[in-house]
Order: sequence, then structure tokens, then C-alpha cells
Amino acid sequence: MTATQPAAEAPETAGETFDSLNPATDEVVGTYPVHTREEVEAAVERAREAARWWASLGFDGRAERLRRWKGVLTRRLAQLCTVVRDETGKPVADAQLESVLGIEHIAWAGKHARKVLGKQRRASGLLMANQAATVEYQPLGVVGVIGPWNYPVFTPLGSITYALAAGNAVVFKPSEYTPGVGKWLVEAFEQVVPEAPVLQLITGFGETGAALTKAGVDKIAFTGSTATGKKIMAAAAETLTPVVIEAGGKDPVLVDADADLDAAADATVWGAFSNSGQTCVGVERVYVHERVHDEFVAKVVEKSKDVRGGSDAAAQYGPMTMPSQLAVVRRHITDALARGGKALIGGVDAVGDRFAQPTVLVDVPEDSEAVREETFGPTVTIAKVRDMDEAVDKANATRYGLGSTVFSKRRGVELAQRLRTGMTAINAPLSFTGIASLPFGGVGDSGFGRIHGPEGLREFARSKAIARQRYTAPIALTTFTRKEKTDALVAKLITVLHGKR
Ligand code: NDP
Repeated sequence: MTATQPAAEAPETAGETFDSLNPATDEVVGTYPVHTREEVEAAVERAREAARWWASLGFDGRAERLRRWKGVLTRRLAQLCTVVRDETGKPVADAQLESVLGIEHIAWAGKHARKVLGKQRRASGLLMANQAATVEYQPLGVVGVIGPWNYPVFTPLGSITYALAAGNAVVFKPSEYTPGVGKWLVEAFEQVVPEAPVLQLITGFGETGAALTKAGVDKIAFTGSTATGKKIMAAAAETLTPVVIEAGGKDPVLVDADADLDAAADATVWGAFSNSGQTCVGVERVYVHERVHDEFVAKVVEKSKDVRGGSDAAAQYGPMTMPSQLAVVRRHITDALARGGKALIGGVDAVGDRFAQPTVLVDVPEDSEAVREETFGPTVTIAKVRDMDEAVDKANATRYGLGSTVFSKRRGVELAQRLRTGMTAINAPLSFTGIASLPFGGVGDSGFGRIHGPEGLREFARSKAIARQRYTAPIALTTFTRKEKTDALVAKLITVLHGKR
């Protein structure tokens, strides 16, 4: 591939299409091809050639293109937000917030790739003092990105941006609910990189995503459910294709006795209900110190009364993007109430056909679905704890471990360190998502691997270690001509170096 060759057209398709709907109205907002396995393989093939050209641009060439891409997104932000609103139903202001964070990540990744991934010297050690040791991080080649619908700009960009900055080509399969946003992002990139299909779009359903995992890509970056993450990992295992899995959570908030209760209640309400609760790092459970529990609950209830989902301009959040999720939300609330829980706001009736209104649950048993499973809807459970040790134990008693939040004046860092999650925000909700230099990812059923920050760049690169002999060593170790005298000397040397009691 040379820089003068035109970018390939989007993959041709055998003809089947699907409609993208506005979930608030069911209006068809776009029609997209269902790409077949052969078409996905062809896209990956084209990407392989494009990857070589893209890698040859070097850090500076790529940084310049990413800078221009970021500029296009920023200047056409209003248009992007409209596409997001049409496909997810979320308010334009929320679409803007996720897009702004995505732009921040493009800026950070482009700017820092050389420093993080470029050649670095390493100490070679006394035994190998005649060697010069360096490590550099080379691109993997082609990365397949499978994205979700809940934050169709921010979430896939978290993988795409870092993969591109590391020198890879990307084949991107957005969710079947948000193909238009994916198309918009890819077309904006083609404007600034017209020479080669460095970022390609494939569309379709789960089968198209499955085809991508088997199409010979060098890594798969997946965001979605744990169940699908497992399927992807199993498929990728057949070809030993590495994966990074970002698979949702059951994120807790801890509220200590000395916490700023207004701030904690505000963070809980926003973290639980914004985006209709369809946030992988959204608030799902709260553990509150008994000394402030009642006061905190009263504040949450009061603030929740002002929050409403709807499609009008005054609504704070939109519809459930995926209709089937409404049944999950309803099931979790029903189970919680049947097992002794109380709804202080909302309840089963709060879950409609498109919109779910806020639900605040208390007295819910810890082993119920509403506490254990990802609800992914505008609900939150609040539980009283004796002390913060109990809060940490209960917060950690889950298979998931993505994000968490602590409200405490004195013990924020200590409590954060004890939470078994990939990220913790102290005294502000979800703040880690907006800090591009911080890695993002989970433990347990929330997945593994990291996007964002230096760790996110390295996730899409392979380390290349080089040891260069600078001069012949006075003591030759790696030869059959080595003498007993040399072995005795080595034994003495290692005793001096490491033998101290
Ligand atoms: P999925 O995990 O099923 O889908 C996520 C992405 O994977 C979509 O692009 C989907 O395509 C694709 N996909 C589905 N099956 C396969 C497969 N076998 N191989 C490769 N790709 C595949 O999530 P859903 O959208 O169905 O949501 C289900 C649940 O997942 C939610 O209720 C929520 O709990 C959780 N979730 C978590 C998210 C997070 O941020 N961590 C984001 C979204 C959902 P397609 O959409 O075309 O089927």
C-alpha cells in the first residue's frame, strides 16, 4: 500500500440489510448491510495491507492524522451528537459529554504514543554489562473492535483510538443498535486518512462480530456482556488470538460516616440513573455507614424525584436502547420486592415499554438478583452497614469488579485500595473515565486487559526486546569453550551479588 492509493470502499455485501431504529420512536434512522463471513475476511485482508502503510507513518505521522481526526470530530460535534441521539434516544447533552471524552482520548493517545511505545533503554545488569538492552512496542497489525450501544462514541473509541495510535489498522463492528454512529466515526477518519482503509466499518448482528473474531485479526477488543465476552474468548482461543474484554459490572458506592452526603447522594442519583442506567461503570449498589444511612437515603429519594426519563427536552435521560433490557430491569425489581425489599421511589410500574423511571430500593437481600447481577437500568439498591469494613466486604462480594466510588473525607484512598475493582473514584462519580492517562478495565467477570492511558497503548502493541553486544565480554558465558575457572568465577560473583543473608 502506498500513500497515493485510494482507500478501499466499505466491504461489499451479499445484499441482506437491517434497519437501525430510534428507540424512543421506533422510527427507522438508517439501513445497513449485514456483512457475511467472506466480507469480514476481505475487510481484514485489506486492513492488513493498510496496517503496513499506517505503521510506516511512524508516531509523528499517525499523531498528526489523529490530531486532524480529533479536529473533525470537534468541529462536527453537533452533527455527531444528533446521530447518537437518533440511535440511542439519549439527550443531545449526554451525547456531547461522551463525545467530548472520546475526543480527549484521541488527543491523549496521539500525543503520548511515542513516549509510551517508543524505544526505551533498559539496564542490562552486571553479568551482561557488555550488552545494550532496549525495548520498543511494535503494532500488532489488525485489531478487531466489537463495540456496544450504550456509549457508541466513547466506548469503541477507547479501543479504536489506542489501537490506531499504537500503529494498528482497525476493523470495527459497532452494535446492531448503533451502526450509524460507527459509520459516522469511520467516515470522519477517512476524511483525514483517505489513502488506505486504516479504520473500516463492518455491520451486522452477532454473527458478523463472531466472524471478525475468527478472521485472523491480531487482537480482539470487546465491550459488552460477560456471556458474549466468554463466547468471543472461546472462539479466539482456536487461533490463539489475544482478547481484551470489557464486560460490565455491578459498581458499588461506599458512603462513610464523614462523607459529604449531598455530594454522595448527587453522585448516586446521577451515576445510577443517567443514560437510563445503561452504563458499564454506572452506580448499581450503595453501602452506607449506619450513622448517616437514613439521612443519605432521604437525600437520594429527594433528588430522585427530580429525575425523569423521556423523549421531551426536559427529560434527564432517554429510553432503554435495547428493548429486551426492560425485562431484565423489571425482573430484578420484582425479585427484590418479593424478597422483602422496598421501593422508596419507582418500583415495577416504573418500567414501561420504552422508558424506565428511577427506582430506589432498600432492604434488598444481598443474594438477590438486584444486588448480584448487572441490571443495566435506572435502579439502585441502598444498604446500611455497621462500618466501612463491612461496606468493603459487601462491595467485594461479587463476581464483577469494574468501577467503584468512595465518599469519605478521611479514608478515601485506603478504602479505594481495598476495593476489588479496576478503577475507583473518590468523592466524585466516575471521574476516572475522563482522565485519559488512567487505565480502564476490570477484574473477574468484568473482564481483563486495559484500554486508555499508557496501559491502553501497550494493550495494542507487542514488546520487542533487543540485546545488542557492545563489546566482547571478558568472561564468555554462552559458549561450549567455557572453562571451569569461569564457572567458579561466576559462582563467586553471584554469591557476592546476591548471597547476603
Ligand atoms: P452483547 O455482549 O451481546 O453485545 C455486544 C457486542 O457484541 C455487540 O456489537 C454485538 O453485536 C456483539 N456480539 C454479540 N454476539 C457476538 C458473538 N458471538 N461474537 C462476536 N460479537 C458478538 O451485549 P448486548 O448488547 O446484547 O447487551 C446485553 C447485556 O450486556 C446488557 O444487558 C448489559 O448488561 C451488558 N452490556 C454491557 C456493556 C458494557 O459497557 N460493558 C455494554 C453493553 C451491554 P450485536 O449488537 O449486533 O448483536
